[in-house]
Amino acid sequence: MNTAAQTPGEQPLVDAHTHVFCWGENPRDGFLSARTRRAWLTRLLLRLTAIQKEEGATISEKLRSRLLRHVHQSELDYVVVLAQDSVYRDDGTRDDLATHFYVSNDYVLDLAQRSTKILPGCSINPIRRDALAELERVCEAGCRLVKIHTAIQGVDPALSRFDGFYRRAADLGVVLMFHTGYEHSCTVRSQKFTDPTRLARPLEHGGVVIAAHCGTCALFDPETYYPTFVQMMRRHDNLYGDTAIMASLIRWTSLWRLSRAETDITSRILHGSDYPFPPARLPFVLRTGLFPPERHNGLDMDLRIKQSFRFGSAYTCQLLDLMGLRSPPRDG
Ligand SMILES: [Zn+2]
Repeated sequence: MNTAAQTPGEQPLVDAHTHVFCWGENPRDGFLSARTRRAWLTRLLLRLTAIQKEEGATISEKLRSRLLRHVHQSELDYVVVLAQDSVYRDDGTRDDLATHFYVSNDYVLDLAQRSTKILPGCSINPIRRDALAELERVCEAGCRLVKIHTAIQGVDPALSRFDGFYRRAADLGVVLMFHTGYEHSCTVRSQKFTDPTRLARPLEHGGVVIAAHCGTCALFDPETYYPTFVQMMRRHDNLYGDTAIMASLIRWTSLWRLSRAETDITSRILHGSDYPFPPARLPFVLRTGLFPPERHNGLDMDLRIKQSFRFGSAYTCQLLDLMGLRSPPRDG
């Protein structure tokens, strides 16, 4: 497993939230459903990012090459790359036909072998029959953060049937990241599962919980869960939030609002980009200038924008402590 080694006094730069996609040439690695491959957003992203120019024989190989190139060239020290588990039926069996976006845990564990900067963020749908065994397996393989996509995977975090999973994650020191706020990039089972108040149950087991996106929704959504995120942060010391996707055009005001929150909130905000979703540059042009040098690398551009806001001093680095990857400073 990677263990952070940093010069004293220097704060490591960590991105807590990035994705890799598989097109589906080898479905065991991962896939996008035919509907997702046809979606305008998917096609727009592929075109905007000129994926055809990357190295590799297949789209999946090109996507992986670009991720590795950007991670390697980035000023970031560590990047969490997230897997994406399937949808499961109520009886715990896998439902591939209802799954529109899948990336296997082995795929991100393998990526972490290819770059010392990549930290694997596996994904486990707690509905699956072997959820506990998979949690133990990925932890054994070095994973210290597991993502649950409430909206896409159809997981209501408030169900008592997940207590054993939450308890085991807390015992193993595995951070649980939940998607919060309305989801727009993929087919959704229920937006209601993304309300941060539903995280009370995993939080009660005492482990570290990250509310990805801090409950924020897009400017056009009928409601926002940001106020309930703030309430939950006040109630639970073991709750954190990340800033993934907040530099996009449809949520750009959320960075201003979040950075003006009280320090008991901002001190538990973690840097996350949601790469490869690109940050919008226009709303932040007064902060970054018209042609910032970071614009050629989405990871660095997103970091540049977010570092221009005032979050806690541990904004880019405390995830390593939460994942147990950095020993606490010695006294004296
Ligand atoms: Zn994401």
